[in-house]
Amino acid sequence: MKVLKFGGTSVGSPDRMKNLLDIIKPKNKQIVVLSAVSGTTNSLLEISQAYLAEDKQKASDLISALKAKYEIFIKELFSSDEGYENGKDLIDYHFNLLSSFANELFTAIEEKVILAQGELISTTLYHIYLTEIGVKSVLLPALDFMKIDEDNEPIIPFISEHLKVLLDQYPTDILFITQGYICRNSFGEIDNLRRGGSDYTASLIGAAIAAEEVQIWTDIDGMHNNDPRIVKGTKPIAVLSFDEAAELAYFGAKILHPQSVFPAQKYKVPVRLLNTMEPDAPGTLITNESERGKIKSIAAKDGITAIKIQSSRMLLAYGFLRRVFEVFERYKTPIDMITTSEVAVSVTIDETQHLDEILKELNSFGTVEVDHNQTIVCVVGDFGVEKHGFAARVLEAIKHIPLRMISYGGSSYNISLLVKNVDKVEVLRSLHNRLFE
Ligand code: ADP
Ligand code: ASP
Ligand code: MG
Repeated sequence: MKVLKFGGTSVGSPDRMKNLLDIIKPKNKQIVVLSAVSGTTNSLLEISQAYLAEDKQKASDLISALKAKYEIFIKELFSSDEGYENGKDLIDYHFNLLSSFANELFTAIEEKVILAQGELISTTLYHIYLTEIGVKSVLLPALDFMKIDEDNEPIIPFISEHLKVLLDQYPTDILFITQGYICRNSFGEIDNLRRGGSDYTASLIGAAIAAEEVQIWTDIDGMHNNDPRIVKGTKPIAVLSFDEAAELAYFGAKILHPQSVFPAQKYKVPVRLLNTMEPDAPGTLITNESERGKIKSIAAKDGITAIKIQSSRMLLAYGFLRRVFEVFERYKTPIDMITTSEVAVSVTIDETQHLDEILKELNSFGTVEVDHNQTIVCVVGDFGVEKHGFAARVLEAIKHIPLRMISYGGSSYNISLLVKNVDKVEVLRSLHNRLFE
């Protein structure tokens, strides 16, 4: 069985939704994961923010504006009265729910319920559409099988078991549709897999059912060798290893959710990145294989904070780094990059929720300096230890730009650079010219 995930733009208009059948071709058994219609999750977030700010009027205006868009959407999607009526009932139900929060205490729990509505709407609309045109499909409620634990980690055995129970109820059906992004947390509440999480859903389902392949259908022909939103002339990469793809996704290549590679990698399910607008383009195939000795791609992650801890106590001492890392562990704050000298260590983080507490504790070790607004630029490829010259080419390309940190050798497929956010565009372009042109 294959898993096919379609992103927001791929379901972004009634025509796009109708055209999905050209790709899905329901001959073989498949699970189709849909995102919300593009722009919807952003609007839902704005609605939640208005509620959180107790601005009920703003929330109501935003709800009306979004509903108006869906009213046009269903008029174009359905051609029969019955289809349209079903679509209208669906829209009314979800928008009444959004409005009902005006009468309730609004917390992060209600916010997550609001954020879930986009995928619930898109999948049900599509299911009603397929029914209207006589294509049989089964809607699988993601909230019945997609589950995360208290650390927000998906529980694959739970997903696998519950999905199997659902699928077993439809032994003769071949087309299954489910919601990306949404899940239940350890309290049983509605939650989500973070922004862009539908890719993660697809990979988790792929792992849970040991799928033949996961296809991520989006608005570009695969993973490009640099950020196409910033650099001109980027090109799709034909093949990537899971490690390379994970690194790129984690360090900012928006085409893939940062964690989405791991389930597929662990359960050895190949992932293909494909373009809905150009279905015959080869796209990118992600598997365990890697192409030796090649620089593959560049990605960048913004919003990074660098922390330097300088202490003479580090000199010839053991256990110092452990104590530093324990501070981050206590505040559940992941570290991305690390560089050390004999008397200082620099680390980067992107979650600054507990920064003040972290800094307070670190101050007891020595002098602490903080740099905000940094960007990690990550060059990814297969740089085996026996190879030489990669780091030199990278540094040569950016010799005119101040470099705060550099990390090489942590793995054989990544060189990470920390630069000021204002220098990011220049770094990406210079690297591109030097490495790929
Ligand atoms: P979807 O809504 O289908 O999930 P996304 O917007 O999340 O789509 O991801 C696709 C977008 O990712 C592309 O339109 C592109 O602008 C952006 N992107 C960023 N970096 C890369 C990259 N290295 N390769 C391809 N696309 C990238
Ligand atoms: N709709 C969600 C978002 O916009 C999930 C996704 O599109 O992958 O973040
Ligand atoms: Mg996405």
